[in-house]
Amino acid sequence: MPKFTLYSPNARSVELRLYREAQGGAPEHRYNLEVAGNGWWRLHLYCDLTGWYYTYRVQNPDGWQRETPGPWATAVGINGARGAIIDLEATNPEGWEADRRPPLCASPIIYELHHRDFSISHTSGIHHKGRYLALTESGTRTADNLATGIDHLTELGITHVQLLPSFDFSSIDETEARVPHYNWGYDPQNYNVPEGSYATDAVNPSVRIREFKMMVAALHKAGIRVVLDVVYNHVASVAASPLECAAPGIYFRRWPDGTLANGSGCGNETASEHEAMRQLIVESVAYWAEEYHIDGFRFDLMALHDIATMKAVSRRLHAIDPTICVYGEGWAAAPSPLPARQAASKANMAKLPAIAAFGDELRDGLRGPFADDKLGGFLLGNAQAISAVKRGIVGATNHPQLADIHPPHWAKRPAQMLSYVSCHDDLCLYDRLLSASPTLSTDEAERLSLLAHTAVLTAQATPFIFSGEELLRSKRGVRNSYNSSDMINAIDWRGKSLHYQLFTALRRLIHLRRQHPLFQLPTAKAVAARLRFLDVGNHVAVAFTIDAPPSIGDSWKQAVVVLNADERPLHLALPLNYYTLYLKSFQSSLSGLTTLHTDTLEVPPHSPLIAAVVS
Ligand code: CA
Repeated sequence: MPKFTLYSPNARSVELRLYREAQGGAPEHRYNLEVAGNGWWRLHLYCDLTGWYYTYRVQNPDGWQRETPGPWATAVGINGARGAIIDLEATNPEGWEADRRPPLCASPIIYELHHRDFSISHTSGIHHKGRYLALTESGTRTADNLATGIDHLTELGITHVQLLPSFDFSSIDETEARVPHYNWGYDPQNYNVPEGSYATDAVNPSVRIREFKMMVAALHKAGIRVVLDVVYNHVASVAASPLECAAPGIYFRRWPDGTLANGSGCGNETASEHEAMRQLIVESVAYWAEEYHIDGFRFDLMALHDIATMKAVSRRLHAIDPTICVYGEGWAAAPSPLPARQAASKANMAKLPAIAAFGDELRDGLRGPFADDKLGGFLLGNAQAISAVKRGIVGATNHPQLADIHPPHWAKRPAQMLSYVSCHDDLCLYDRLLSASPTLSTDEAERLSLLAHTAVLTAQATPFIFSGEELLRSKRGVRNSYNSSDMINAIDWRGKSLHYQLFTALRRLIHLRRQHPLFQLPTAKAVAARLRFLDVGNHVAVAFTIDAPPSIGDSWKQAVVVLNADERPLHLALPLNYYTLYLKSFQSSLSGLTTLHTDTLEVPPHSPLIAAVVS
């Protein structure tokens, strides 16, 4: 029997409207909700309303608000304007009860993808292009018979897929299913419902829910955990938002003069410090974790949320399962009324030990500054970027060899930093390299991409890879491609054949990291004690050794990693010993290429090297 509840502390009355249709027509029934205390209203209807649609209408002192499904709708009709009454249990695909989170890998590696980018190209060989179901298709191949889709992910060896916004967002008209349309989805409409345009049928409210669950189950079956990109910090439109329509003036931050604050750069920001917004965030992630078996959450502009809210989020999720991961962008897009000391920002990460944040130092150190695409970083031989790369290598922790350098440390434990060189936002790596160095050859770009990802994957941090980087993806120089066409955003799977040496080297790097726990030392103290930067003279290079603590059970005694961004080869002096080479430029092997008895390792220009002293 349906139970309707709405938080609306200033309302004079709240009306429930029942419709036969998801759009248009007049309500067939209207009921008034009753006061339930603490700002809540409620109504119990003792009849089966499955198949009906509903809205609330709130009367405030200043008049009637727009109709809304309210912030807590868990099913909606097309375009999310009305809530839908469905049998949620009936949306469970076959075997859903047996679906379990895959075991948490000791070395998580996150892979960020957009549903449409990943599958829409004709080169993907995927049937359900641009849909949730694309990630359920195994056996898909390129014309050259190389794996695509979910098989590609398992081949690559990543452990977590981070999906770009997949909750119901507003920018795509779900009634225009056959028109090519694209959006990243950072324009939230209904937080607790999957987006309809990624479903094979956006009209039937159950289909998007069932197909989303099928996707999660397929990824779990492939051993991959699923992370949702959540955007509670702002909404598409305040006036049309279920938050504002349900409880005007409650959910959004304002400046003292009454104007809406805009720390998101998208026109508004939510007020997580308000009890109602905090509860919405905490219970929404818990709902996704329980109903959809989601394994992690990436918080967009996390610094717009207050520390107390993020603590409540991690507490709530870790009570469900302590292996659920929580991380976010430790910054805002613009000034916010939220006091800096309360913000869940990078600077305050010591107060949020259970949560991780993106390390932009490593990103900008490798590729060049965020603010100027024409300037190159470490990869293009900029020696000034060396210290930022080193800070990233130690997972933004305090390290004795980096005591006085800029950028400063901020992570309490190394895995608290996400190491990355690119993400959906901004130029992808190939385009960023070309922007700063327009004459760069494709061969050279492949080489530098491998160098960049060796830094990302040997850092004592949580590695994060933007989908398609392993195929030297290009977005044709478009920085903010949030609504660009498929021509810009689609992954061209032919890149897997064209750049197969890059793909193979990245795959081996991922597997090397997963096989060797010394790349993910558990504490900042262990990193400080066991990771040593080596002297590289005046080369634009970073070289370091990691001594494996006996307790972690690594088959290597010591790893040697060299990132040579110089145009000259580097001859690295080491104590005389037996060194087994695992990766040297594009040559790589999980069992070792060769073992040398030497006191010098030669690293080619613009190339990485990984060697080890094997016990
Ligand atoms: Ca939508």
